[in-house]
Amino acid sequence: MKAEHYVGGIFRSDGPAFPLLAPADGSELGTVPEATREVVDDAVTAARAALDGAWGATGAEERSAALRRIAGGIQARFEEFVDAEVADTGKPRELASTVDVPRAIGNFRAYAELLYGRPERAYTTQVPGWSAGTGQALNYTVRRPLGVVAVISPWNLPLLLLTWKVAPALAAGNAVVAKPSEETPSTATLLAQVIDQAGLPSGAFNLVHGHGAGAAGEFLTGHPGVDAIAFTGESATGAAIMRNAADHVTPVSFELGGKNPALVFADADLDAAVEGTVRSSFTHSGQICLCTERVYVERPVFGEFTARLAERARALEDYGPMISAEHREKVLSYYRLAREEGAEVLAGGGVPAFGDARDGGFHVEPTVLTGLPETARTVREEIFGPVCHVAPFDTEDEALRLANDSPYGLAATLWTRDLSRAHRVAPRVQTGIVWVNCWNLRDLRTPFGGVKASGIGREGGEYSLDFFSEPVNVCIQI
Ligand code: NAD
Repeated sequence: MKAEHYVGGIFRSDGPAFPLLAPADGSELGTVPEATREVVDDAVTAARAALDGAWGATGAEERSAALRRIAGGIQARFEEFVDAEVADTGKPRELASTVDVPRAIGNFRAYAELLYGRPERAYTTQVPGWSAGTGQALNYTVRRPLGVVAVISPWNLPLLLLTWKVAPALAAGNAVVAKPSEETPSTATLLAQVIDQAGLPSGAFNLVHGHGAGAAGEFLTGHPGVDAIAFTGESATGAAIMRNAADHVTPVSFELGGKNPALVFADADLDAAVEGTVRSSFTHSGQICLCTERVYVERPVFGEFTARLAERARALEDYGPMISAEHREKVLSYYRLAREEGAEVLAGGGVPAFGDARDGGFHVEPTVLTGLPETARTVREEIFGPVCHVAPFDTEDEALRLANDSPYGLAATLWTRDLSRAHRVAPRVQTGIVWVNCWNLRDLRTPFGGVKASGIGREGGEYSLDFFSEPVNVCIQI
C-alpha cells in the first residue's frame, strides 16, 4: 500500500517521506509522504476552486447519488480496506471487517439517505412584525455549506472516524481537505481512490498526509482559507488546534478524549455486566474513545464482579497491539504509575510473551486495577489502553458523584435491572452519551459527542449536517 496525497483530483507524493511501522510485529509497511505547507496550500486552493466550480453547483440529489457511489466503491474493495486497516492498526481482522469497514460504508449510506429527505429550505415561518409599525413578514431559512472544511482524524478507528466527518461534510455541499493520522494513512488513501473513481468534481475531496504539530495538521488548521475544522483526537490537541484556529475565528467541531465510567448496581444482570465491561474496557485494546477506564461497583457485588472481570481479562487472547512503540511506552508508564500510587493489580500489568512474531509488536496485557484513591492520576487521566480501575460504592448519589468527578465527559455505561433507577441516574451522569445495559450500541442518527474536556458539539444525523452548514435567514416584508 503506497500512501499518496490527493489534491485537486491528482495523486502525488511530494514532500519528505517517513516510514510506516506495523504495530503487530514492528515490520516496515512502507513510507508516507509528509505534506509541506505548499501541498496543504494547493489542497485548500483546489477545494476553494471546486466550491466556485462544478462541486459548488451540485444539488442535494446529485450529492446523495455521489455518496452512494462512494459507499458502493468501498463495498467493492471491502477486503482491500480490511487488509489496509489491519496492517496499519494491528487490530483483529474480525473487528476491522465487522466494525470499521462496514461502518465507513454505513456512514456514506446514512448521509446519502438523510440528505435525500432533507429540505434545502427549512423552518419556513410567517410571523407578525415584532418591531412596531413594520407589518407582517415572511421568514425562511436556507442552509448553505460552510465552504472549505478541514477534517483531522486519529489512528484508532482511522476509516470509520474519517468517513464519519467526510460523509456529512460532502453531503452538506462543502469541499473537504482531510488529514488522517500519520500512524494510519492507508485506508484514507484507498478512500481517495474510491472517491476519484466515483467521479466527484476534482477538489471536492482532497487528502494530505503528515504529522500534526508543526506540520501538515497545524498548517491546515491555521490556514486562512479553511472555513471550519472537524477534529477527533486528544483533548490537548483540540486545545492546540483551537488556539491555532482562533486567529481566523474558525468554527470547530471536536470529539476528544475520555475517562469513561461504568456504574454496576447490585441488581444488575452480573453476567451481562461482566461481559459488557470486558468489551467496553478491552475492545481494540482499550483504544476506542468510548472505552471504560473507571468501573464503580455497588459494594454487595464488588468482590464477585471484580474477581470475574479479572479472570476474564487474564483469559483474553486476541486483543491486538498498541498503535506504536511510543504509545505502548505511555500505557506501560501508567501501569508503573498505578503501582507507585498503591494499586493492587488484579490482572495483567505488563507485556505479554507470545513466543511468536507478535513479540516484535507493541502489545500490553489487559489489566484490571483496584485500590486507588479517586485523586490518583491513574484514575483521572486518559490512558487509552486495555486497562480499568474498579472501585466500590454504597449509594446511588455516591456512584453519580464518583462518575462525574472527572475533567472528561464522553460516555458512561449503567448496569441495572431497575428501570426507574436507569431513568433517574442516566440524565444526571455528566457525559454526552449514556448506555444502559449495553455499550457502543449505535444508531447513526443520534447525537454523538462529549461534554467538558471531551468535546464541542455533536456529530450524527442532522447534528452533523447542522454543523457543516450555516443557516441563513431571509426576511421579506409583506
Ligand atoms: P492525537 O490528538 O494525537 O492526533 C489526532 C490527529 O490530530 C492526528 O491526525 C494528528 O496528526 C493531528 N494533530 C496532532 N497535533 C496537531 C496539531 N497541533 N494541529 C493539528 N493537528 C494535529 O490523537 P490520537 O492519538 O491520534 O488519537 C487518540 C485520541 O483520540 C484519544 O485521546 C481518544 O480519546 C481520542 N478519540 C476521541 C474520539 C471521540 O469521538 N471523542 C474518537 C476517537 C479517538
